[in-house]
Amino acid sequence: MTDVLLEARARVLHDLAARGLDTADVVSVVDEVVTARQWWVDEWPDGAAFITCLVAQDVQEALLDQVGPWPLCPVVHDPEEDEPSPHELRVAPDLGEDPHWVCEEGGVVVAPVGALHR
Ligand SMILES: [Zn+2]
Repeated sequence: MTDVLLEARARVLHDLAARGLDTADVVSVVDEVVTARQWWVDEWPDGAAFITCLVAQDVQEALLDQVGPWPLCPVVHDPEEDEPSPHELRVAPDLGEDPHWVCEEGGVVVAPVGALHR
């Protein structure tokens, strides 16, 4: 496995752990995603810089069926609201070298992928 894939894996696992989702089942989902992306890096070595971005999006998609939306937005957008409606963060840009978790609802950048807080 290439270094970029290992780094992407580590960053996504960090963000999962930040939300208490680093369970054996979820880790195996991440490993499937990372393994499936190996061909992509092999086919397009110049795209290696984008791999964290892609792996984060793949994991998000894969987890949607199993555990639901991840990661949920930690930002309180409306202090008046007692129970903020849960919504997920998105990876931005869609295909970029320096992916961040952003809340589209509030237009806020929450954290770089790999540095998500609880
Ligand atoms: Zn939000």
